[in-house]
Amino acid sequence: MDNVRVRFAPSPTGYLHIGGLRTAVYNYLYARQKGGKFLLRIEDTDRTRFVEGAIENLIRSLNWAGLEIDEGVMMKDGVVTEEGDRGPYIQSKRLDIYKKYVDQLLESGHAYYCFCTKERLDNLREGQKIKGQVPRYDGLCRSISMEEAKERIAKGEEYVVRLKLPHDEDISFMDEARGKITINTNEMDDQVLMKSDGFPTYHMAVVVDDHLMGITHIIRGEEWLPSTPKHVYLYQALGWDVPTYIHLPGVLNKDHKKLSKRQGDVSVEDFKGHGYLPEGLVNYLALVGWSPEDNQEIFSMDELIQAFDTKRIARTGGVFDVKKLDWINSHYMKELSADELLDMAMPYIEEAGLFTKADVEKNPERYRVLMETIQDGLDRLEQVPEECGFLFDEYEVTEDDALEQINSETAPAVLEGLEEILKGMDSISLEEAGKLMKQVQKASGVKGKNLYMPARAAMTGNVHGPDLSNIIYLLGKDEILKRIEKAKSYRK
Ligand code: GLU
Repeated sequence: MDNVRVRFAPSPTGYLHIGGLRTAVYNYLYARQKGGKFLLRIEDTDRTRFVEGAIENLIRSLNWAGLEIDEGVMMKDGVVTEEGDRGPYIQSKRLDIYKKYVDQLLESGHAYYCFCTKERLDNLREGQKIKGQVPRYDGLCRSISMEEAKERIAKGEEYVVRLKLPHDEDISFMDEARGKITINTNEMDDQVLMKSDGFPTYHMAVVVDDHLMGITHIIRGEEWLPSTPKHVYLYQALGWDVPTYIHLPGVLNKDHKKLSKRQGDVSVEDFKGHGYLPEGLVNYLALVGWSPEDNQEIFSMDELIQAFDTKRIARTGGVFDVKKLDWINSHYMKELSADELLDMAMPYIEEAGLFTKADVEKNPERYRVLMETIQDGLDRLEQVPEECGFLFDEYEVTEDDALEQINSETAPAVLEGLEEILKGMDSISLEEAGKLMKQVQKASGVKGKNLYMPARAAMTGNVHGPDLSNIIYLLGKDEILKRIEKAKSYRK
């Protein structure tokens, strides 16, 4: 298929929801797989919801996730720009374009002026609700002649423009993930196309834009599925080809409800803040609502582009599972080099007050070893300070298991052996640290668990933790001696 053009079309309401990122990811994968274009359009016709800085925020989040925008709204040197020959790509800059097509629909009889007041519409809705009916416009203004309408407008009466749906007609369209969908116009509402402030509604703008921007596939959330018949009717009324639709199942919480801000983290920034890596978040999100043919779960972006298949998009919502996200992210955490990990973790480390960039510059090897030591236990960057706790937290032995080890039968020989050897050393290089426990074994005659457990408990106050030779190197001679001294005070 050539010339695939897809778009992500968020409203700038403040932040990028992870469900929105998932939609963007699927659009991006599709575009890249087909050698097509991925557009970003900003849908800001609802001016009441506009939030300052939201467009920048959206683009930053998409860029962070590794989704490169080919056309439309993007950012260059920190400034929002538009690129492409089918712009503008921000809806509020396209009002005259929408007006032109609304006029065309009025002229062809596919739309009509409606002068109903808010009170009338409110009463109508109330009445329908009481009768248990679906609230819907009753078509009062459908019969107003064009002549009368123009006179009323000239007198300054407020109006909107509505879609004039035919009665009892089936509207069908293909959804690549769900098959053929048919809805009768009797189930549908005469949708407002243009509001009294001259702004188009989403429904009008989305159809005009997707057509004029040459969008071939509309990949979006299933919350738009009920609106699609109206859009399809509009395409037909305007004499345009209907694009292919692919509606995505929701991203749900544990109770199978829409993931909402009130329940906690939903924005891409929240997840970035917790120290998820873009590769991990994108890999995980791709699997919420889509599954590959085999059981593969770890996918690079390139592998996703290869494997993505709109036919395998689920019909029912996918539950957002933080444990699985953590598991996938931990895979990408392990792939980082120690230097990359240190670099990315630095903001968390500095915030926790553990050490600074200047400290790292003075002794890069030490901090590299520190990162290598903790790396395998990490799901997210925000865990780095806590995992470094054995080195920076005030040394205490509170765990029962550790106390038991310090009081074990072999502990005195092990700790004394350790002390003796350390006292004979200036400092401990990484290599020496690797051999130290063997020396203690020789000196004390204790080996295996009986050797390592008391040593670890005395050095870290814990019985579990990272590699002991790294711990020895990182703590250094003086600190270990201090800790052994203190460990002795826990002896019963
Ligand atoms: N502006 C809509 C949103 O914020 C996009 C709907 C669509 O993709 O058609 O979700």
